[in-house]
Amino acid sequence: MRRLLLVAMLLAAPLFVRAQQPSPHAWSPYADVILTNGSVTTVDKDFTIAQALAIKDGRLIVVGTNAEALATRGPATKVVDLHGRTVIPGLQDSHIHFLPLGEEVTREADFTYAKSAADIITGVEQVVAKVHPKPGDWIRGSKWDQYKYPQMVTRWELDKVAPDNPMWLSRTYRGIAVNTAVFRLMGIDDAKKETWPAWWLKDPADFTPEDRIYREQRTITFADGHTEALMVPAGVFLGVRGAQLLTVHPKPYTFEEDVESVRDGAKEMLSLGVTSIVDPASRMGYNMQVYQEASNRGWVPFRISAVYEGIFTTQTPDWIREHLAGIHVNNLGNHFLRWRGTKFYADGGAGTRSSWISEPFVNWQTIEGKPNTGLPVMRDTATREAQYRAALAYGWDLHTHATGDRAMRQVVDLYMKFLDEFTAAHPGQPLPRWSVIHAYLPIEPKTMVLPDMVRYHIIAVTNAVFQWQQGFGFVTNLGEARMARTQPFRTYLHSGVLMASGSDYSVTTHNPWMGFYALLTRRDQTTGKVYGPDETVGIDDALRSYTINGAYLTYEEQFKGSLEAGKVADLVVLDLPDVKALQENPELCFQMRDKVLLTMVEGQVRYRKQGYAF
Ligand SMILES: [Zn+2]
Repeated sequence: MRRLLLVAMLLAAPLFVRAQQPSPHAWSPYADVILTNGSVTTVDKDFTIAQALAIKDGRLIVVGTNAEALATRGPATKVVDLHGRTVIPGLQDSHIHFLPLGEEVTREADFTYAKSAADIITGVEQVVAKVHPKPGDWIRGSKWDQYKYPQMVTRWELDKVAPDNPMWLSRTYRGIAVNTAVFRLMGIDDAKKETWPAWWLKDPADFTPEDRIYREQRTITFADGHTEALMVPAGVFLGVRGAQLLTVHPKPYTFEEDVESVRDGAKEMLSLGVTSIVDPASRMGYNMQVYQEASNRGWVPFRISAVYEGIFTTQTPDWIREHLAGIHVNNLGNHFLRWRGTKFYADGGAGTRSSWISEPFVNWQTIEGKPNTGLPVMRDTATREAQYRAALAYGWDLHTHATGDRAMRQVVDLYMKFLDEFTAAHPGQPLPRWSVIHAYLPIEPKTMVLPDMVRYHIIAVTNAVFQWQQGFGFVTNLGEARMARTQPFRTYLHSGVLMASGSDYSVTTHNPWMGFYALLTRRDQTTGKVYGPDETVGIDDALRSYTINGAYLTYEEQFKGSLEAGKVADLVVLDLPDVKALQENPELCFQMRDKVLLTMVEGQVRYRKQGYAF
């Protein structure tokens, strides 16, 4: 009805306008662009599939049939026949540590898809071919995961690719692989015992179970000609302390390089159909300074909401209060760059056996020797409450990293208390939109937070792609039964928890379609096994979690997140007959990089695949 009314108004308008403003630059009542003959996946309440849409001044003015859209056609309107292709709303990655992405895609190796040491070598060879490093230049890469390879890569294999370039290859988290050139920079010579650090042949005493130095037996020839077979470091260091043994590093990217990274990273995200991101950690506001500078240069072509992160873990409430005093709150800026809440940490993660959980990690008998139930950042709930209140005093929204079920219980209990106070003080007002970030284990018997999340509208910002990309590491630590309940997508969405999807790049790939793959299949990349098949969702729910639910998280659901008349024209044209194709054959997710034909933000074409005429 509203749609027809709008069309009627537009058709009625021209005479009046022409009479008032005869100039050729006068306001026109007609659409700027009309897309026809498509499978327009609106992601409205009923998940309606429309045929066409019309855009004017960056907004959708019609979403409906060809005839309805074409009724807004004027002499200068561009009409594009989609030939049956699919349109979806622009995607939102609701949790991405976006800043290094541009640097990574232009000059680093990405081991997301590597499934063997040979694949890692190939990745390094490719980056060498791309950046042509001079001798001494660092080669960087990231996202290897030793769980995936029968045999981890060694420094001697890496040396064959680029012996004169130190290599710094990061694990998905907490771990570094290096080549021999790095040891040389540290002054270590394999053939000179006097250069060996204390840890060369023996682990330091302060290593935790997550720390590990990979060693291999090598026959070393010393200066005097004698040889010894010794277990020497193979170049791979796991854990925080393990990695800290490396005393040389590539130099950090500069502010200028970071600003350029925003430009290049945005281009990359747009090419995958992402039009909005939430950066969950602005590192004391640093990222926001970078975004602001990029924005000043016109390099922010999509929507960034940055969560202010003061790295709030164990600081005193006074410190937090003082720190936040000079900084202002939510909704500054515009719809392309804005602050959105602050972030706390409640625990660690499943991959590093540091989630705060009620049942110990499996295999503790062999790994820790005593039951390991993880690490709360703040076991004392009264202190945590005071920390939160310091942020609430300035009006910040709360977002908390909590992976384990006990961590989730602590966070949700405190949120409930604050939200009750909010309701008492502001009766009838809608609740603020606070989230639990990661939110792996909401339905554990001892802690069960799910019904409370529903009741208090607490948002779960999940990272589906972990189920695929780090599935094997997770199941090794959580066990199969608990893995099947980890990130219970269907339970979340069907119980009424608003679940928004994000990648957690740079821990994972930034490619949202791998998140879709995980939502649709829950298949582990390493073994191909499915954990929790009844917790998969359909493409409709998967899309909601990447669009309208994300818009809700950032208080923008009236403005974006679905294709409905009145909302902004943030949209993606896909080379698919309809979105159901992805559900019928989830393996298509691996081809989506080629199937994104066009990405539009507020009616502007921000990405167009080469060869696609538009
Ligand atoms: Zn994160």
